[in-house]
Amino acid sequence: MPAPRLEQALSYVKDRKQFGKPIADFQATQFRLADMATELDAARLLVHRAAASLDAKSPEATQHAAMAKRFATDVGFQVVDEALQLHGGYGYLKDFPVERLLRDLRVHRILEGTNEIMRVIIARKLLAD
Ligand SMILES: Cc1cc2nc3c(=O)[nH]c(=O)nc-3n(C[C@H](O)[C@H](O)[C@H](O)COP(=O)(O)OP(=O)(O)OC[C@H]3O[C@@H](n4cnc5c(N)ncnc54)[C@H](O)[C@@H]3O)c2cc1C
Repeated sequence: MPAPRLEQALSYVKDRKQFGKPIADFQATQFRLADMATELDAARLLVHRAAASLDAKSPEATQHAAMAKRFATDVGFQVVDEALQLHGGYGYLKDFPVERLLRDLRVHRILEGTNEIMRVIIARKLLAD
């Protein structure tokens, strides 16, 4: 499985120059990108585990799906918010697609069962065991 790419943010930080160099050269930018990639990878792994559990008709499939939905939708929103921040003011404008991604991702923390309800499902199983 290829690592998450963060294409638009990576492209922007290599292109945008401040203080005489690309903002990609600042370690603060690099650390932010590293965390974004790591969190996306973790989210993707949880989603794949949930899918595998469903395929296997595992008794833990509901738990795994609730964990994956809660985590992936929270992380997806947080990562795109970080990407918008890396774009500076341009991230907030329609010149770049990141503001649209932020708006589109926000609803997934609500749709198909809110993330609070995912926590209800996870906690119910934890306390029943
Ligand atoms: C763009 C969009 C498209 C949609 N499409 C569909 C669709 O195609 N089909 C469909 O069936 N529905 C659809 N919905 C509805 C969606 O599934 C619901 O909005 C979602 O399930 C949350 O329900 P609610 O809005 O009634 O929120 P509520 O249940 O009123 O929740 C409000 C808040 O209270 C919290 N809350 C509620 N109960 C608890 C609890 N027990 N413990 C802790 N916190 C709690 C929630 O987490 C949330 O933060 C859509 C919604 C949107 C925004």
